Amino acid sequence: MSKNKTFQSPRGTHDILPEEIAEWGFIENIFRELCGRYNYGEIRTPLFEATELFDRAAGEASDLVVTKQMYSFIAPDEQSYTLRPEGTASVVRAFLEAHLNERGPVSKLAYYGPMFRYEGTQAGRQRQFHQCGLELIGASAPEADAEVLALAADFLKALGIEAKLLINTLGTPETRAGYLDELRTFLGARRDTLSEDSQRRLNVNPLRVFDSKDARDHAAVEAAPRLLTYLEMHDEESIAHFAQLKTHLDNLGVAYEVDPLLVRGLDYYTRTAFEFVSDKLGAQSTVLAGGRYDGLIEELGGAPTPGIGWAAGIERLLLVRAASEIQTTTAPRLTAFLITMGDVARSAGVKILRQLRDNHINADCDFVGRSVKAQMREANRQKARFALLLGENELNEGTIMVKDLDASTQEAMPLEAAIERLRGGEQ
Ligand code: ATP
Ligand code: MG
Repeated sequence: MSKNKTFQSPRGTHDILPEEIAEWGFIENIFRELCGRYNYGEIRTPLFEATELFDRAAGEASDLVVTKQMYSFIAPDEQSYTLRPEGTASVVRAFLEAHLNERGPVSKLAYYGPMFRYEGTQAGRQRQFHQCGLELIGASAPEADAEVLALAADFLKALGIEAKLLINTLGTPETRAGYLDELRTFLGARRDTLSEDSQRRLNVNPLRVFDSKDARDHAAVEAAPRLLTYLEMHDEESIAHFAQLKTHLDNLGVAYEVDPLLVRGLDYYTRTAFEFVSDKLGAQSTVLAGGRYDGLIEELGGAPTPGIGWAAGIERLLLVRAASEIQTTTAPRLTAFLITMGDVARSAGVKILRQLRDNHINADCDFVGRSVKAQMREANRQKARFALLLGENELNEGTIMVKDLDASTQEAMPLEAAIERLRGGEQ
């Protein structure tokens, strides 16, 4: 094996470089601030869980299971674990494990972090990606649906992202089962016209055919019986819930469109399902998605408890912001770059840097002993606000030369005065 072998980050993963971090931090801060405003507490769960948790939560008809998107592995303890592909299952597991239900009827939880799915990679579709999301557990009323949607709309608005909210109702598992029988029969008769993916889904979850991005499925989808129409005849309660949600959204000024074809990739959704879509992303148009999951908590071993939540893909939010040419946030500017001449000054510089930083001044220096000219170039490359020059003269006089790189002026002064000046000159 060659000694000089180089490595790349695994396919579908990305390094986030320092110059990109400001944008990430900006999104994170807005999310945290809004969660505070709506009274959601942050929860941090492990990055891996027992595989069975995700299998159970997602359901055997889900994309995660059907198209084998999970990163599962056998650990030395011979148990199967999976890198979390989504946040809800872990949050519900933690909710049950910590008995959060005993603290009050409603738990409002938010999370932020990496998720892992083994899938084909393209722009906006990675194998390690990041989500921020939230869950409102314990309330079945449409007011809860309206709140999580209002928070989502506020979040996207604060990010300067224009996205259309699509909503639908999926009914209850019981009423949906009746519809699925009808749909299966309809699609079964047209099996040969469907894409391979949809043919595979036909038996497990024919609803997912509606979610297909394959053009071959469009004709069948157009003509197929509609869930909403079926529910209007067979599930009065879900339809009433949906009507109330729409009224609340109208009252809150949250714009939406009913999309009777909207379904979700996870099986646990009941009633409300929704997506915010952007026209800036091509095929991967969904930036934020979620729904109600009234059966999930029971499925994971808890008492019957309703819940609703959503997750947003951070990489997609970043892509939309970039495509919309929204002014990107920038990292804090370096205030002082210390330039030293000669060994004595170089050594004295160590303490000066410490004093600057003790005074909360962002400061740095050249560590490689280059010429003054090269150090000056470095100060400019780093776009420092000030260069501080320390040579024999300054050492003898107990001063430092403060060069204002914006104003192109310079003045020698004692270090204390320089510190005052720099603190005033910080931006
Ligand atoms: P899609 O239909 O795009 O596969 P999904 O239904 O699998 O999405 P969810 O599980 O609802 O997505 O996840 C919520 C959000 O997380 C998505 O709307 C998207 O913004 C983001 N997301 C999901 N999968 C990925 C991925 N592989 N890479 C980047 N972002 C993703
Ligand atoms: Mg998916």
